[in-house]
Amino acid sequence: MGKNYRAELTGVFGDPVDGNPTGVMEEAGYQALGLNYRYITARVTPDDFPDAMKGLRAMHFRGVNLTMPHKITVLNYLDELSEAARIIGAVNTVVVREDGTLFGENTDGKGFVEALQATGEDLSGKNITVLGAGGAARAIAVECALAGAASITIVNRTLDRAEELADLVSQETQAESTAAEWSGTYATPAGTDILINATSIGLAPASDQRPDIDYTTVTPAMTVCDVVFDPADTLFLKEAEAQGAKTVNGLGMLARQGARNFTLWTGHEAPIDVLEGTLRAEFNEA
Ligand code: NDP
Repeated sequence: MGKNYRAELTGVFGDPVDGNPTGVMEEAGYQALGLNYRYITARVTPDDFPDAMKGLRAMHFRGVNLTMPHKITVLNYLDELSEAARIIGAVNTVVVREDGTLFGENTDGKGFVEALQATGEDLSGKNITVLGAGGAARAIAVECALAGAASITIVNRTLDRAEELADLVSQETQAESTAAEWSGTYATPAGTDILINATSIGLAPASDQRPDIDYTTVTPAMTVCDVVFDPADTLFLKEAEAQGAKTVNGLGMLARQGARNFTLWTGHEAPIDVLEGTLRAEFNEA
C-alpha cells in the first residue's frame, strides 16, 4: 500500500468564531502525539448549518466542536446524547462514529470540574454559588451537581433563567439548588465554598469590568473561579485574591474540555501539559 496523505478532520462550527483559540491548542496536541489530524476553525452561519452538518458526514470528519450559536440547534442532528448533554440541553462536541452516526457530548462542565480537581479541590458536599445562567453556567451547575456538590445557588440578572436552571439541577441531580435575582450589588452567601463567575463579564475588550458583587463577602476560605479566559487574570479574580481567596482561572477549563474532545476524537489521552502550555502562550500568561 502507498502512503496515506489523507488527514483526519476535526474542527469547530460557529459564528463569530475568529477569536476561538481551540484549534491552536488541539493541533499542538495532535503534533505532540504525531497524529495526522487537523482542526478547522470554520465560520458557519445559522442558515448554512444544515449544509455544514451534511459536509461533516460527506468529508468523513472525526468530529466537531460547536460554539455560538449552534450548541442547541445541533441537537436536531444527533443520533445519541450523553447523559450530561441531555440534562444540560446543549452540545459542544460531536463525535462521528465509524458507522456514521453522530454522538453529542458537552465537555464544558466536565472541563471545569476537572480543572478544579487538578488544583486539589474536592466537590463532594460543597456549597457552590454560580453567577450567570447561560450556556457555561448550565454546564457547570449540572456537572458540579453530578460530581457531588451539596448545594448550588444560581444568581442571574434575568431571574427566569436562574429559576429554570435551579429547577433542572434539583430535579435531575442529588444537589439542592435555589435561584437568586441579581439586581444591584450581590452579597455572596455565607457558607459558600466555591464562587464561580459563569457570565461573560470581564471578557476582553471589556476587561476593566467585574461582576457586581460585594467583594468583602469573599473570604479566604473560598475558592473563586472564572470562566473568562481572555484575559486569564480577570479583575474578578484579582479582587478575590485580594480578599485572600484561592483562585482558579478559565484557561484550565478550556484546556481540559479540549483534552476530553481530543480523546473522544482520537482515542488517545491528550497531552494536557501541551494543551495548557499552548493556551498560556496564546494568552501571554507566564
Ligand atoms: P451566554 O450568553 O449563554 O450567557 C451569558 C450569561 O452572562 C447570562 O447569564 C447573562 O445574564 C450573563 N451576563 C452577561 N452580561 C451581563 C451583565 N452585564 N450583567 C449581569 N449578567 C450578565 O454565554 P455563555 O454561557 O456561553 O458564555 C459565558 C462566558 O463563558 C463567556 O465569556 C465564554 O467565553 C466563557 N466560556 C468559557 C469556557 C472555558 O472553557 N473557559 C467555555 C465556555 C464558555 P442574562 O441571562 O441576564 O442575560
